[in-house]
Amino acid sequence: MSKEKQFVKEITPQNEDFSRWYIDVIKKADLMSYSPVRGCIVFKPDSYEIWELIQKELDARFKETGHRNAYFPMFIPESFFQKEKEHVEGFNPELPWVTEAGGEKLEERLAIRPTSETMIGHMYSEWINSYRDLPVLINQWANVVRWEKRTQPFLRTSEFLWQEGHTAHEDEADARRETMQMLDIYRDFAENYLAIPVIMGQKTPSEKFAGAVDTYSIEAMMKDGKAVQAGTSHYLGTNFAVAFDIKFLNRENQHQFCHTTSWGVSTRLIGALIMVHGDDRGLALPPKVAPTQVVIIPIGPAKTREQVVARADELFLELKKAGIRVKVDDRDQSPGWKFNEYEMRGVPIRVEIGPRDMENGQVVLVSRISGEKRIVAQADFTAEINKMLAEIHDQMFERAKQFRDEHYGAVDTLDEMKQFLDEKRGFLLAGWCGSAACEAQVKEETGATSRNIPFSPSEHKSTCLVCGEKAEHTVVFGRAY
Ligand code: AMP
Repeated sequence: MSKEKQFVKEITPQNEDFSRWYIDVIKKADLMSYSPVRGCIVFKPDSYEIWELIQKELDARFKETGHRNAYFPMFIPESFFQKEKEHVEGFNPELPWVTEAGGEKLEERLAIRPTSETMIGHMYSEWINSYRDLPVLINQWANVVRWEKRTQPFLRTSEFLWQEGHTAHEDEADARRETMQMLDIYRDFAENYLAIPVIMGQKTPSEKFAGAVDTYSIEAMMKDGKAVQAGTSHYLGTNFAVAFDIKFLNRENQHQFCHTTSWGVSTRLIGALIMVHGDDRGLALPPKVAPTQVVIIPIGPAKTREQVVARADELFLELKKAGIRVKVDDRDQSPGWKFNEYEMRGVPIRVEIGPRDMENGQVVLVSRISGEKRIVAQADFTAEINKMLAEIHDQMFERAKQFRDEHYGAVDTLDEMKQFLDEKRGFLLAGWCGSAACEAQVKEETGATSRNIPFSPSEHKSTCLVCGEKAEHTVVFGRAY
């Protein structure tokens, strides 16, 4: 893409064209560049740092719950994929193959991993012998490749970064407990770290992971009313254990297959953050994942500049010591330009300090999200910053939740669904008889897919929105990324 095309003068308003808004924002905030290979992006430092902050927090939560990290190779022999029928059918269309290396044709093609159940299943069959070896609780941070037809920066790329947890257990109950535990960690992380409210539930059979018995997801609503599947946790039963011979001697001294799970979140979360919280001024980053949480901007005339900058540096050190990600911008640009710049980049708090503030022993804090200006005594500076960061997180979560609730309806028929999606956009609860044909018809006629069968829907529907027969489940539908 030419330099000119990467340059964005004005951000397109969300209401005018949400997709353009998204691309404008990520370019203007300097989060990514397109690579020469279709569907692949470069994560520039600001987006990569968001990912590092996501990694740090999730990694701590995985370790707290007994998991350890390992690393498995990215090349997977073709024969591994043939071992699990559903898995190969599901992933085959998206696999890139290495057929030649070192100037020679390979005897067996190697897939670049789209996910690692097969490779890890193969290794677990070697590692696990006895019930004493269980459970095995491993996570991998890695890149994976899925040759996607439709791509969109962060949300759906051909190569993406993620974590994939893979665990093996003695029995179904333990594996299911793990599946739910990890789903709940994702929910808690999305809500309390990313300030994104999510709907937890089970995927319908047609939307589940290829090779899973049950797939569970957390689903988030973007500001255009569309859904993003923000994380998934799979109970794999003994499917992969049978395919890869992951057996152990149980407490009765008999051979038995393990029950396995897998679970993952990806750099898609960065796209979700942008689309849930951003506005016409640009990015708005929740404090816990903002690479810069506070920017300090010295203001005032040239003659007091040196003193003001010295005070700004003191404030900087004070926050840095308190573990806050802070920077001072004393570049030769107008304060107004800087205010806009950091608003566009989504920095949660701007601190202004000028000669009059110094005289009065005060500083001015401005919230990116509410625009609220707070004048605080310099003695209370760090405490006030911490308080405001916490408040901003809560406000962002509440705003996102309010938006979602306002765009979350319930319908009884397909016609009602179409009308709602066209007029209001968003998610819909509807009854579903359980047949794949009815589910497919919803997609064909409305463009909406079943997001999940929520664990706690606000109401239960009694009839299927397509055929009118008895509803087996109440499902959340929505158009999705
Ligand atoms: P899965 O292994 O299919 O359950 O995927 C795990 C998670 O990875 C999903 O919940 C998505 O959040 C994410 N994901 C799947 N495909 C992509 C993609 N092409 N780009 C970015 N993230 C993805």
